[in-house]
Amino acid sequence: MIDRVWKSVPGLACACIAAVVFMPFAWSGEDSQRKDWAIVVHGGAGTVANDASAETVQAWRDGLRVALEKGKSVVADGGTSLDAVEATIRSLEDNPLFNAGKGAVFNSAGGHELDSSIMDGRTLDGGAVAGVTTVKNPISLARRVMDKTRHVLLAGPGAEQFATEQKVDRVKNTHFSTERRRASWDRVREREAKQPVSRVGPAQPWQYGTVGCVVLDSHGNLAAGTSTGGLTNKKFGRVGDSPILGAGTYADNETCAVSATGTGEQFIRHTVAGQISQLMRHRSWTLKQAAEYVLHERLNKGDGGVIAVDLHGNIEWVYTSPGMFRAAADSDGRFVVRIRDEQ
Ligand code: ASP
Repeated sequence: MIDRVWKSVPGLACACIAAVVFMPFAWSGEDSQRKDWAIVVHGGAGTVANDASAETVQAWRDGLRVALEKGKSVVADGGTSLDAVEATIRSLEDNPLFNAGKGAVFNSAGGHELDSSIMDGRTLDGGAVAGVTTVKNPISLARRVMDKTRHVLLAGPGAEQFATEQKVDRVKNTHFSTERRRASWDRVREREAKQPVSRVGPAQPWQYGTVGCVVLDSHGNLAAGTSTGGLTNKKFGRVGDSPILGAGTYADNETCAVSATGTGEQFIRHTVAGQISQLMRHRSWTLKQAAEYVLHERLNKGDGGVIAVDLHGNIEWVYTSPGMFRAAADSDGRFVVRIRDEQ
């Protein structure tokens, strides 16, 4: 018996050494060949109705495509993942279709409060703003919080004052209003007056449109960003997951970059974006395994979705909502825009 144990020692030792040596690469994702660069975009955990006009469908497609092209041109030219994330999200913030910047949903006070964050996977540094009301492009203010302060998150009046100091583009709060969002707000108020909302209920179709972007650049750096008007008729002062690093946004060069969309409270409770990264780091799971586990096993069906890219440029999108507006490109020549359930 003792003899058998002794004989297996060299084998065991080899197995242990191999495990230690190769473990850091075990989360290498589905395709171990690293892509030069990869970019994924989302425009919220929704889809267009089956009876939507061809023009409506085309408008969503165009919005995603234009944004993706902006980010792609940065990263394909050797630019940084942070610059690509910011450029992509600015484009979506300026497009009234999406629930970020112009086109943001209305809160319970009939105004708009915007949340945004950006994270650098190289340094784990990040910047975020919450509840801003006059900043045209919240993602750029979030970037400045990261680049110009020693803080991660500025909220409300302090964030507005910082916007003044930084001389970023400002607008009246009504700049963000659109007729489409006002009609949604009316519908939600009517519905909520009849039937109070559940505490953790999934986001409803009229709330979709949050935007996000994750990028691996040709220098091997990951970055993630998210921007939103939040949930329609949210309480004045409510902050969702989008500006919370680890909940709606996360990036770590050793694992992945993630941006989420859906019922923010659920993504905060389950620290969704950070949890995906931690499962890769500590359990050596692939990005696909980690994202699918968190979305399908930890969250409730209908809570929303994530886009993600790992350190090798493997792209994932996972959602349990009726759909997710999404698009992706990479250095292998992939360029796809999806607004329905097609793969
Ligand atoms: N996650 C966002 C929030 O809760 C909303 C969304 O993604 O549509 O603020």
